[in-house]
Amino acid sequence: MIKRIESDLIKSNVFIVSQDDNCVIIDAGVEPGKLEIEGNVLGIFLTHAHYDHAFFALEYAKKFNCKIFASKFAEEYLRNPDYNYSKGKLKIDDFNSFVFLDSQGELKLKNITIDYKTLGGHSKSDMMYKIEDDIFVGDVLIGRDMGRTDLYGGDKLKMKESLEYLLNENYSIMHCGHGEDFNKFTQNKVINLWLKYLNR
Ligand SMILES: [Zn+2]
Repeated sequence: MIKRIESDLIKSNVFIVSQDDNCVIIDAGVEPGKLEIEGNVLGIFLTHAHYDHAFFALEYAKKFNCKIFASKFAEEYLRNPDYNYSKGKLKIDDFNSFVFLDSQGELKLKNITIDYKTLGGHSKSDMMYKIEDDIFVGDVLIGRDMGRTDLYGGDKLKMKESLEYLLNENYSIMHCGHGEDFNKFTQNKVINLWLKYLNR
């Protein structure tokens, strides 16, 4: 079961993905007190390290006594408020609660299996997560919109590579960093339009 909660931080999404009595949390923009969680939290996963997605990560880790999983490129964003765009409010120096992920792989946390894959284009820290038939892409694609490539670490060429990867990925539902969920049929049409734009 997947629950989507919209935050007060530029309406970023937090997803709670549950299987039986366990769950993982994807992104951390919603205040911990507003999360209604039944069962054990096995881990927090960050789609990228912009403040609207990472702001409460440390508080979640403390509250639920679990690790935060993120791209190895997340660290420099979390150390530096200018890179995570928090206007000085998000600055992490202690990374004991973090597990940094490299390029791609699979994690098994009890009964939940999470595949991860480094993307890019919106930020250096972009990471896609796949749980069963659902993918979580952060701000690489926001519904019909391509994610911004003009922020620190953004890169149009990497965005093109990410979109090409997503075009060929197998999934049923794409969950974006903001807004509603969409199916693969819809998103492939959107991706093809953006690739046309990027290939001009
Ligand atoms: Zn972002």
